[in-house]
Amino acid sequence: MHTAEKSPDVDVVVVGAGMSGLFAIKALRDRGLTAVVLEKAPKAGGTWYWNRYPGARCDIPSLEYSFGFDPELEQEWVWTEHFPPQPEIEAYLDHLAERYDLARDIRYSTGVTAMTFDEPSGTWLVETDTDDHIRARFCVMATGGLSAPYTPSWPGLDSFAGTVVQTSLWPEEGVDLEGKRIGIVGTGSSGVQAIPELAKLGSHLTVFQRTPTFTWPSRNRALTDEEQAAVKARYPQLREEQRNSFTATAGTTGAVILAFPTGERRILDSTPEEREAALAEHGFDACRIWSDTASNLEANEMAVELYREMIRRTVRDPETAEKLSPRGFPLGCKRPVLDNGYFETFNRDDVTLVALRDEPIVEFTPDGVRTSDRFIALDVLVLATGFDAMTGALTRIDLQGRDGRRLRDDWADGARAYLGIGIEGYPNLFHCVGPGSAGVLATYPPHIELQVGWIVDTVRDLVDRGVVAFEADRAAQDAWCDEVARLSAGTMYVAPTCVSWYNGGNIDGKARTFPLYLGGVPTYMERLRQVTAADYEGFRIT
Ligand code: NAP
Repeated sequence: MHTAEKSPDVDVVVVGAGMSGLFAIKALRDRGLTAVVLEKAPKAGGTWYWNRYPGARCDIPSLEYSFGFDPELEQEWVWTEHFPPQPEIEAYLDHLAERYDLARDIRYSTGVTAMTFDEPSGTWLVETDTDDHIRARFCVMATGGLSAPYTPSWPGLDSFAGTVVQTSLWPEEGVDLEGKRIGIVGTGSSGVQAIPELAKLGSHLTVFQRTPTFTWPSRNRALTDEEQAAVKARYPQLREEQRNSFTATAGTTGAVILAFPTGERRILDSTPEEREAALAEHGFDACRIWSDTASNLEANEMAVELYREMIRRTVRDPETAEKLSPRGFPLGCKRPVLDNGYFETFNRDDVTLVALRDEPIVEFTPDGVRTSDRFIALDVLVLATGFDAMTGALTRIDLQGRDGRRLRDDWADGARAYLGIGIEGYPNLFHCVGPGSAGVLATYPPHIELQVGWIVDTVRDLVDRGVVAFEADRAAQDAWCDEVARLSAGTMYVAPTCVSWYNGGNIDGKARTFPLYLGGVPTYMERLRQVTAADYEGFRIT
């Protein structure tokens, strides 16, 4: 095709209508750019559309887990609980789409299958499973960090005659769980939230646990009118605090995201009496009040022992308590989990724990599952087995950049990106909260406003300047990846015993890298501002 025939249909294609995509479309429109959003789901919401399993809720306070770009919106919207349940966040995002008339630029039930960059024209051809072919000057990948579900395979799973459902693909019409024999695999954030609710709904719940989890009581509560009014009265300051905070949070919320120790006292110097007093005062949080657990593995293990002691005091059956106790990996290497009565659920007569490391799954049959030790009859199997995080949503698209390069090949040994935004070899493509950004270590809405705001401002500028290609430079990308690695060196995140979705260890065969920027949001944003001021230092402009 002649270059002239490859003129773009729109300035920007945005992939995904979750939080990032909704913000992007509004911001692009506000800056006078044309855009089309392609969304796989039949409606907006992203994570908060797909993850509608019983018990799903956010572990960041609702008054913080919301956008601040419109003072009227944040004043008018009413949250009912401290930690917002999934339906409320979904309703909030529906409201956003409606309030700003965003749906007219969104094509729902449209999954992107392939994207190909055409170098002479500087355009992307985006193809979808509904046979759309859209040509755009720029692409903004608002595909989410936790949006590509990971489904393990076991022998015979296809033969299981009951219902198999993934927490991250929970059907809108719901799942009939009433009185059913339910099995759930996975005890990360999703599993830990679902387990207490599934126990209440089914006749029996079997929890298949591979690795025990560190989880803390969420102490969720209804929001009082006074509490809500007090925050709304100081919303501008709260948003400012978020922008200036390492994790884009206000107050002490950051501890939820990072599990960083909060105290000044070293556990290595503590006496048994002091540790007992800490347990009495702080319960499960007793392991998080010391200063030396993030940097010293011996201190970390002492703190973990406090945690195990709390499990023993909570779970009546000593054998079950022992199986639930984390061992062999440090506290703080994974995303902290918050729960609503998780350990207490194992005191119910109708809940059984199967520790898969002692008793692996051998096969599924039409009626249930056979482990090495027994047969367990099931009607419903729930998979809370996580995600091909941060990279999966992009590598599952056949994404071809310059010179026929394919992203899934380029990232086979780990994601590489400049500033977590641009990728060398893939011009005119921007990634929201991608690998190499503070991304999932920050509260999404405020972080999105800052980072996606930068992307949109940049696109506006590039369009004005008639730029054909805007691409991360190889040397700048390498230097940024080195900085990301340097910041994580010596932290629990990269401890050899830490297996998590942060470092790719949760997926068999996935490269083990830790692609999150640990410099904090303000430093990250300052860096973006410097890059802009230096005429997009580290990007090549054609
Ligand atoms: P996850 O943390 O990766 O947990 C997946 C679970 O599935 C783990 O227990 C894992 O065991 C298990 N698993 C995976 N493959 C398995 C296999 N083949 N056999 C047995 N068990 C297997 O995923 P997630 O729970 O969906 O959470 C992911 C992230 O999403 C969270 O860390 C959080 O950032 C976010 N999230 C947040 C909320 C919230 O706001 N409260 C709720 C849900 C999710 P291993 O540990 O042994 O790998």
